[in-house]
Amino acid sequence: MKLSVVIPIYNEEENIKALYDELKGVLDSLGHDYEIIFIDDGSSDTSLAVLETIQQQDPRLVVVSFRRNFGQTAAMSAGFDYATGDVIVTMDGDMQNDPHDIPRFLEKMAEGYDLVSGWRHDRQDPFLSRRLPSMLANKIISVVTGVHLHDYGCTLKTFRKEITRGIRLYGEMHRFIPAIASGMGSRVAEVKVNHRPRRFGKSKYGISRTIRVILDLLTVKFLLSYATRPIQVFGLLGIISGGIGFCIALVLTIERQFFGMSLANRPLLLLAVLLIFMGMQFISLGLLGELQARTYHESQNKPIYTVRKVLGRGRLDGDR
Ligand code: UDP
Ligand code: MG
Repeated sequence: MKLSVVIPIYNEEENIKALYDELKGVLDSLGHDYEIIFIDDGSSDTSLAVLETIQQQDPRLVVVSFRRNFGQTAAMSAGFDYATGDVIVTMDGDMQNDPHDIPRFLEKMAEGYDLVSGWRHDRQDPFLSRRLPSMLANKIISVVTGVHLHDYGCTLKTFRKEITRGIRLYGEMHRFIPAIASGMGSRVAEVKVNHRPRRFGKSKYGISRTIRVILDLLTVKFLLSYATRPIQVFGLLGIISGGIGFCIALVLTIERQFFGMSLANRPLLLLAVLLIFMGMQFISLGLLGELQARTYHESQNKPIYTVRKVLGRGRLDGDR
């Protein structure tokens, strides 16, 4: 078995060397073949120079340097692309994650899990700006995605290689990988990890991240539940909205025709028109979504299902 450790780096010059030494100690003691992939996410300090120096001494290091800052999600995505190991470990480059936790992750993986996620049960970050919003976000993500973990934000995770192949990441979505993976039918587990305060450098995020996470959650929820059947969501909204509008319009018409009531001073008429139009828009949106879903899957030959394994002489039509 080969391990690939993926570490995003954005202005972490004081942390890299110490992290590398600590990580190397742990990995050497494990006895597996391994590689360490540092993704330099367009650092503006000397991080890249530090990485280059270490890389020259250790051929098991891979350094991928971005042209500019693309964000942690992009960095992790690049790590997945360049990884050649059977198991991929992701962790932060600021030494807040403890490499000594890695063996316990591997034990959990050996029990048959496809993805193991860390839980920073004793998180060492400021309460108001980080831990409180994160507590709320974790609750919401847990309820909305139906994948119940305590901590979605912990970067320390391990993945079986096949899991990372099928996942495309955008925005702030690295924290939703367990949800996406579980939506694809992977077995997900959680282990408690040691979390340490940041000693050098600054955190790259603040409270503003919460909003972005919530928006991404919306996307993930939609993709997981309805991406292959958008008309089910938009069509339903359309029928409800259009139906209510139609009923109101019907009542108004009867009142006008049979009871001679005037419509000119009835704001309800506007509401009826609005609801009917919204209903039509929603249904059209759903139909367009259906077209998009077909283009998405059929143009890339992407099946709408995921297969764990095939027994016997099963063969895809396209292989012949
Ligand atoms: N990071 C990155 N690109 C960014 C922001 C952060 O590669 O645009 C890296 C950063 O260097 C660190 C990890 O992502 O290794 C986590 O960042 P940070 O420690 O600031 O997040 P926090 O632990 O405060 O949530
Ligand atoms: Mg950190």
